[in-house]
Amino acid sequence: MRVYNFNPGPATLPLSVLEKAQKDFVDFKGKGLSIMEMSHRSPEYDEVHNQAIKNIKQILSIPENYHVLLLQGGASTQFYHIPYNFLTRDSEADYVNTGSWSKKAIKEAKIFGKVNVAASSEDTNFSRIPKQSEMKFSPNAKYVHITSNNTIFGTQYHSFPDTKGVTLMVDMSSDIISRKFDVTEFQLIYAGAQKNMGPSGVTVVIISDEMAKKVKPDVPTMVNYNTHIEKNSLFNTPPTFGIYMLKLVTDWVVELGGIEKIEDINNSKAKTLYDAMDKNPEFFKGTTEIESRSKMNVTMRLPSEELEKMFIDSAKNEGMIGLKGHRSVGGIRASLYNAFPLEGVNKLTSFMADFIAKNG
Ligand SMILES: *Cc1c(COP(=O)(O)O)cnc(C)c1O
Repeated sequence: MRVYNFNPGPATLPLSVLEKAQKDFVDFKGKGLSIMEMSHRSPEYDEVHNQAIKNIKQILSIPENYHVLLLQGGASTQFYHIPYNFLTRDSEADYVNTGSWSKKAIKEAKIFGKVNVAASSEDTNFSRIPKQSEMKFSPNAKYVHITSNNTIFGTQYHSFPDTKGVTLMVDMSSDIISRKFDVTEFQLIYAGAQKNMGPSGVTVVIISDEMAKKVKPDVPTMVNYNTHIEKNSLFNTPPTFGIYMLKLVTDWVVELGGIEKIEDINNSKAKTLYDAMDKNPEFFKGTTEIESRSKMNVTMRLPSEELEKMFIDSAKNEGMIGLKGHRSVGGIRASLYNAFPLEGVNKLTSFMADFIAKNG
């Protein structure tokens, strides 16, 4: 029996996608071998590769002057690829610090140039997204970097900052393809696939032509974004199986009705869970400010650590796993990425009602 998987990443995948992959696993399209065993230069693989890129372009309405790259190394590798490509010792970049992932990005950027923290919510243990009025952007910054959804702390930007014309870049690892947004607000978007788009091993980078032209000279070949733009992410062997899975997941999104439909479903899932918390806010205490709440990662504390442990253990017995909060926040975290079904959220909210009836 499949469980309801609330893990923050790698995360749940659509069952129909897993079944399709299972069917193709040993013998892809009657070729007598699996996609993993095929050349990345074969026409069969080429079709999968290009369809994955096409799907992402379609889902996010990506304009012609942007490139979609399929890379390796995870979002964490992009933390240093970005400054390696764009930052120099005597130049600076602005970073908004909204949690552990932002901090890791800042640490890497400091190796290459000067970093200004344009705003931070660390003083309240990252319980909120700083307001526009708090953000102090430097006019000379090469770029501004934000983390659109804070997977660990459960906060999310509901509108993106106005940087007064400075290039904006975003780590969208935990909310890409979950809601509609305007790609042209950004010059570079990146995300590991393992939360909303597929298994781990593939990193999606969306970069504008304008930004690609600004890459520094003497950047090593594999780090240089232009290498992958010029070779359509086939400079070296790409993570072919992960890209095949990414293609299936994005096919699933397209068939479901695209980004509008996904966003609707994600809104209902998040509303259902937050409503259940807000019915008993003293017992299921949200860890974030209401206006910064994430629709992807819902975080809460119970009245005691003992109750939290009991909650996680009994949920597990009922087929709901992955609800333990990150150690820096504690408590409960329910990750509700695209492939997580509404039925699973309904099951959790009725479990919460039973739990409070017994222990409240
Ligand atoms: C998971 C996550 C990362 C790290 O991704 P890797 O692919 O494991 O390197 C970075 N940023 C955010 C916002 C994340 O959720």
